[in-house]
Amino acid sequence: MQLQSNFVVIATRNEGKVKEFAKLFGAKGYKVRSLADYSDLPEIVESGKTFAENARIKAQIISAHLHVPVLADDSGLCVRALGGDPGVFSARYAGENATDADNNARLLQALHELENRIELSAGDGHPPLLSEASFVCALTLIDPVANEVIEAEDVCQGFIIHEERGESGFGYDPLFYIPSLGRTMAELTMEEKNEMSHRAKALRMFLDQLPDQTS
Ligand code: IMP
Repeated sequence: MQLQSNFVVIATRNEGKVKEFAKLFGAKGYKVRSLADYSDLPEIVESGKTFAENARIKAQIISAHLHVPVLADDSGLCVRALGGDPGVFSARYAGENATDADNNARLLQALHELENRIELSAGDGHPPLLSEASFVCALTLIDPVANEVIEAEDVCQGFIIHEERGESGFGYDPLFYIPSLGRTMAELTMEEKNEMSHRAKALRMFLDQLPDQTS
């Protein structure tokens, strides 16, 4: 794929995400902008049933409006014992204006209320595990001028534990435990999380499909 410009607009206002994307895109010779660099943008309703559908909806609406390459992402947590919930509702699991703390409390409550609750064990030294879970990240880039689309999706596997641990990261990180590391996602440094997170893995898979602009 050949992009028709040397920059990409990231369809987010989240500064943390923009920084993460800017670093990885920069290594390939691309600059990034974000929605914060534009005004009068169309409203986006994330009405998709999957992460990929939501990423596509965002990339389509913004790229059609700006006429430049746009990368959109959608991510969330899927908990096995809850049939994949909260899924695409991860950000608003406990209500429209829910905080991370509200969503984490709702998740623990939902798991404790399960009738056929099975506690899993990773062995000595590990906390009790309430369910298998995965973080998922879907990415869609649309270049409306070249009429090109690139999509990528990846996951990070772990387990939900019974109480929050750790101060780093955001969202469900304090409840998401990775037995091979013996830590929750919120107990990892940003560098460690960026090595193995769903977003970092999807982005690497995605960048492999983009030509290098540095030479
Ligand atoms: P979005 O992709 O910014 O819409 O994220 C949706 C929601 O999924 C966030 O508000 C978090 O609740 C959750 N989420 C996505 N990625 C992560 C992560 O890396 N750690 C913890 N929670 C996450």
